[in-house]
Amino acid sequence: MTTLPRPAHPAPAAPPDLTVWPASTEEPRPGSLTVAGVPLQEIAERFGTPAYVLDEDEVRTRCRTYLSAFPDTEVLYAAKAFLCRAMIRWIDEEGLGLDVCSAGELELAVTGGFPPHRIVLHGNAKSPQDLALALRLGVGRIVIDSPSEIARLAAAVGPAGRQRVMVRVVPGVSAGGHDKIRTGTEDQKFGLSIRDGHAQHAITRVLGQKQLELTGLHCHVGSQITDVRPYLAAVRRMVGLMAAVHRRHGVVLPELDLGGGHGIAYRPGEQALDITELSRAVRAELASACATAGLPVPRLIIEPGRALVGPAGVALYHVLAVKHTGDRVFVAVDGGMSDNPRPALYGVRYAPRLIGRATEAPAARMTVVGRHCEAGDILSPDATLPSDLRPGDLLAVPVAGAYHLSMASAYNLVGRPPVVAVREGRARLLVRRESLADLTARDVGV
Ligand SMILES: *Cc1c(COP(=O)(O)O)cnc(C)c1O
Repeated sequence: MTTLPRPAHPAPAAPPDLTVWPASTEEPRPGSLTVAGVPLQEIAERFGTPAYVLDEDEVRTRCRTYLSAFPDTEVLYAAKAFLCRAMIRWIDEEGLGLDVCSAGELELAVTGGFPPHRIVLHGNAKSPQDLALALRLGVGRIVIDSPSEIARLAAAVGPAGRQRVMVRVVPGVSAGGHDKIRTGTEDQKFGLSIRDGHAQHAITRVLGQKQLELTGLHCHVGSQITDVRPYLAAVRRMVGLMAAVHRRHGVVLPELDLGGGHGIAYRPGEQALDITELSRAVRAELASACATAGLPVPRLIIEPGRALVGPAGVALYHVLAVKHTGDRVFVAVDGGMSDNPRPALYGVRYAPRLIGRATEAPAARMTVVGRHCEAGDILSPDATLPSDLRPGDLLAVPVAGAYHLSMASAYNLVGRPPVVAVREGRARLLVRRESLADLTARDVGV
């Protein structure tokens, strides 16, 4: 074994890899990270942990990037990724539409001032309340996802009314970051299949209902997709179906909704879907498929969720315990699957980072786990963190803006974390922490 002489001056630390962090992230001093000019450590001190930080300008910039990458396209934000009143206002001010899938999301949006005509209602099983509220508020479109919905919706609209609808189609394209988020094939619950003819049958029935105006077709092939090819395959299948509808009914459908699913990088080195390339390729494919079919090019609609808000969010946790078990080092934090169920649901992995203090300690492999009573409550099985990590340290997890809090639960009665917006050097509370009083208020029996 040879030992290298120590350099007279320590080598400068490698610059921090901030590629998956909000664009405004800086490291003014070693170990200290700021987002939108606000030190994350200060947010943890002021609001406690766990806490979620949302970079408002990152969300707004992502909205603008979509609008400029996709000209002549209606861009709808998929509300299920994350919703609160502030988010609704940002999306409205940036000129996007909104995709909702329940009366709850719809009501929050409209009471928050979002114009109902720019809202699309989805859902594979819409309740009578979902449909009644959508009709009462006058949503722009309702996406039909099952045959039984057609007569139900037509009856609810009433003889004098007319509702614009789309039909959700299963194009038979498999794509997505995990089996549980692939929605373009016949073996999952969403949509009506082209292959077995249910889509065509539903379209015929919708066209026969004078209370329903069919504006176009919808598909959503999956989520966390990082390749444009599944979208191009979907375009070809959907245009094929639009051509069949034209031949059979003489109807030209004016809109085509390709859903969302645009993938993002969760850890340095991972690939995100290039939306400029997506736009170019999809519009070229659409133009050529329509030319071949002899159809005018329909107006495009897309529905990104994760890609608009995911990279704008950062989760903050305190370390509660560090212990060695076998050959592993377990680092337990004060949150976990009740604020972020994604690792347990889809096996996804994050890259947590120590913040708030500088250290010269060498890096080590650690398993970062949550505080919940489930062995699957793992944030990262293979995090690289300083070997002197100890209780009381602060960890920050980037790319925490989508499908964390919107899927959060009351598990172990820990209470859901607050959401803090940062912008131009200031932090403000958007959603307060859930208290035990909030949780117990619903428990009304003995
Ligand atoms: C979930 C969903 C989206 C958004 O998916 P992302 O992966 O967050 O972009 C869009 N449209 C529909 C119908 C969805 O179900």
